[in-house]
Amino acid sequence: MIAHATRILDFPDYLATIRRFTDDELIPAEPEMVRTGCVPERLVARMAELGLFGMTLEPEHGGMGWTVEQQVLLTLEFTRASVVYRSRFSTTIGLVSQAIAAFGTDEQRARYLAPMANGDCVAAFALTETEAGTDATSVRTTARATADGYVLNGAKRFITNGHWADVLLVFARTDPESRELSAFLVDRTAPGVSTSLPEQMNGHAEGPIAEIVLQDVHVGHEALLGGTEGNGLRQAMRGINHARTHVAATAVGQATRLLEEAGRHAGIRRQFDQPLADFGAVAAMLGRSYAEVEAGRALILDCAREFDRSGPPRDRISAAKLYCTEMASEVADRAVQILGGEGIAGAGPVPRMWRDVRALRIYEGASQLHERNLARAVVAASTP
Ligand SMILES: Cc1cc2nc3c(=O)[nH]c(=O)nc-3n(C[C@H](O)[C@H](O)[C@H](O)COP(=O)(O)OP(=O)(O)OC[C@H]3O[C@@H](n4cnc5c(N)ncnc54)[C@H](O)[C@@H]3O)c2cc1C
Repeated sequence: MIAHATRILDFPDYLATIRRFTDDELIPAEPEMVRTGCVPERLVARMAELGLFGMTLEPEHGGMGWTVEQQVLLTLEFTRASVVYRSRFSTTIGLVSQAIAAFGTDEQRARYLAPMANGDCVAAFALTETEAGTDATSVRTTARATADGYVLNGAKRFITNGHWADVLLVFARTDPESRELSAFLVDRTAPGVSTSLPEQMNGHAEGPIAEIVLQDVHVGHEALLGGTEGNGLRQAMRGINHARTHVAATAVGQATRLLEEAGRHAGIRRQFDQPLADFGAVAAMLGRSYAEVEAGRALILDCAREFDRSGPPRDRISAAKLYCTEMASEVADRAVQILGGEGIAGAGPVPRMWRDVRALRIYEGASQLHERNLARAVVAASTP
């Protein structure tokens, strides 16, 4: 079905299709998603049918072959709906498929990419551990070499889609003395793999992040990504730079919707015989938010164009990820303020999105990590 979507639609038509899908199907299904606590399976099937699982891959791998700029334009549309919809396919399209496309062996590309592009193979990216959060080099999961492959032992936490993915990209240490990591493609149903979900989430409630335990999990040599040990961090960074670009766009998409919700409320709700929007203080919150959303949109689109021209611009991606996610939290906070008590009570979109956007400042590099990296870049560029 994806192949049809790829061939029939040019980009403006495809973008319009995704805009309609967002307005007509994703946003109206948010109450159902909240009620049931998960993304309805019929919408996951629709995402696959429309090609969203293949939006980042080249046609030779069954994908749609969109540029990074086009991917950002699409993300700006579908992330006006709950961020959890995007989470359902984000780890497949970004973190994992990009690493396989860039570093996988011919066999790994042939085995995984086309099923990922059509939504048949959902992937999760299993890097984070209790001791290895921002500092990914502290991974303790081990991969002991055997005659016919490796035996993996360790535990991962906070893994998006980890509970239902078909394949896990697991980062482990083949040499406990070295800081180098290696990446392994592990079947989630393999003996020794177990997953569980947290009892409670503060944001992303309908897309909970999993804990994964690996106990004496045997994999063959063909599971080692790229067939070479010690390349794991470089492989991870390929997917991470791509995912950070998408997360920045996600923050702008969320802020766009939050501003729409706040603007609608401010225009309708009356106090002291006038709409809230007529109070200067409320107008200032709306006007400032509009300017910041547009600044974020321009920044991430420009960044995406540079990505297309000359590969991932690491520092500019960091800057966009930092600015857009912090901006979305500010906009969410103002939206809650404008809604008053309705911004706190009930299952409406504003309080839910306020909680959801908070996590964007933590995953794909906490804001403070980006600030530190950008400060280093400034000093390096300014020092003779
Ligand atoms: C919704 C969600 C989805 C996620 N999905 C995945 C996934 O799919 N796969 C995966 O592997 N992981 C995933 N994660 C994990 C995420 O990548 C980590 O939470 C993140 O890297 C931070 O690690 P930590 O939580 O251990 O916090 P820590 O590393 O303990 O950091 C806590 C805080 O300390 C500060 N800090 C840390 N290091 C520095 C530094 N160098 N300079 C300045 N300040 C610093 C920051 O303020 C940071 O927020 C997800 C997390 C969330 C919340």
